[in-house]
Amino acid sequence: MNPRLLLGLYVGVVLVPLALAWTGTRPPRSFWDELATGAGMLAFAVILVEFVLSGRFRAVSGRIGMDVTMRLHQLFARSALVLALVHPFLYRAPSIRPYPWDATRRLTLMHDFGALWSGILGWLLLFVLVLHAIHRDRIDYRYETWRMMHGIGALIAAGLILHHTLKAGRYSADPVLAWIWTGLFALAALTLAHVYLLRPVLQLRAPWRVASVRPAALRSWEVVIEPQDHAGLNYEAGQFVWLNLGNSPFSILEHPFSISSAPASGPALSFLIKELGDFTSTVGSIMPGTPAHIDGPHGTLTIKGRTEPGVALIAGGIGIAPLLGIMRQMHLTGDPRPAVLVYGNRTEAQIAARDDLAAFATLPGKEVVQVLAEPPPGWQGRTGVVDEALLRKLFADPSRRQWLFVLCGPPKMLDATEDALIGLGVAPERILAERFQYD
Ligand SMILES: Cc1cc2nc3c(=O)[nH]c(=O)nc-3n(C[C@H](O)[C@H](O)[C@H](O)COP(=O)(O)OP(=O)(O)OC[C@H]3O[C@@H](n4cnc5c(N)ncnc54)[C@H](O)[C@@H]3O)c2cc1C
Repeated sequence: MNPRLLLGLYVGVVLVPLALAWTGTRPPRSFWDELATGAGMLAFAVILVEFVLSGRFRAVSGRIGMDVTMRLHQLFARSALVLALVHPFLYRAPSIRPYPWDATRRLTLMHDFGALWSGILGWLLLFVLVLHAIHRDRIDYRYETWRMMHGIGALIAAGLILHHTLKAGRYSADPVLAWIWTGLFALAALTLAHVYLLRPVLQLRAPWRVASVRPAALRSWEVVIEPQDHAGLNYEAGQFVWLNLGNSPFSILEHPFSISSAPASGPALSFLIKELGDFTSTVGSIMPGTPAHIDGPHGTLTIKGRTEPGVALIAGGIGIAPLLGIMRQMHLTGDPRPAVLVYGNRTEAQIAARDDLAAFATLPGKEVVQVLAEPPPGWQGRTGVVDEALLRKLFADPSRRQWLFVLCGPPKMLDATEDALIGLGVAPERILAERFQYD
């Protein structure tokens, strides 16, 4: 689906409850009371659609990219929190038990604790969830524990808010609106069931096995997995999967890793994994034969279908992983487009896949530019970092600015590279970037 259509669908779904309330026949209340209800309804609709914006659905992240999906998820969650926070404080009508003759709740607010308790709990839980997510890095526990708490907490908060909406919501007395709320909540719950129950069941039917684990560079490993009695994965070079090594497919111990092999190289998949934390530090001890499960492919970092006259691949450190997949695919398929691969590292020991890089550099029209911040004596490549000055030199020829630029690396380097390329006159739609950050 086209990203604009996706945006239209999002706005449509989020606004449907408000539109129904607006066009309903209930007698109007004061401006402030309507505003308060509107803020609450909008917040709830945004929260429910957040489940689809979790980054696990290709229909969304496959169109707008993982980075954009996650940034939108965060932005919308914060907006929903602000709307939810102001919701109870905007009301002006007296909060007493509704008069028996005020069935439309026009002159009074429900003051019935049976309808309010769930709203108060949902309100508090939402506050905790968003704040917790913003400050996750400051709390010392496993990422997976946080992610599980975030998903379950969000579902409980949505359930509480649904109860409050149906019991206290003036407009939810309309059965159509009540059904819409219930349907949206069911959809949100189903997204979790889909990711954590249905997909694992499908993974059981297409198991993989670790074929080899080899050192690839300083504190980095190449892990190769092969399909067991099935044809493998249909993917594009540069995409990533959620990889689960040695656990049940129902386990939450799965991590996103880019595929560094090329589709043209056969059904086995290879990954380049850098030691970073509790899981990645154990990768070197994983034995061949270990069962593996994957969820994917995901991601939009791919040159397939792009018509630009050339390709620039710019990687920082482990960001080379998906770009290796693209480079290998170009090599194996004899892609005639000119290409430059720029690969920055701190030291020489961090350089991965040297043989493939060297082989690629010998192809006509292909160039590999290695950059080291701390080069050893006799270093033949460039020295320093991948910065604006270097990019200006490499892409000085105006025709190169019409190329497709594919970037992957640490967030700081990517921000600086994107700014530099745009400063050089590269159109933003010709820059693809992935930040290796899923939160
Ligand atoms: C799209 C994408 C592609 C990636 N490709 C590669 C790659 O090819 N090679 C590579 O070395 N790294 C890659 N990464 C990063 C890799 O996923 C993390 O380094 C790894 O998950 C860290 O796990 P840990 O338990 O060792 O580290 P921890 O110290 O537990 O976590 C470090 C950080 O990694 C992230 N993280 C940890 N666990 C998970 C998880 N289960 N799911 C999502 N994020 C998590 C969190 O932001 C966390 O703060 C990629 C990340 C993304 C989002």
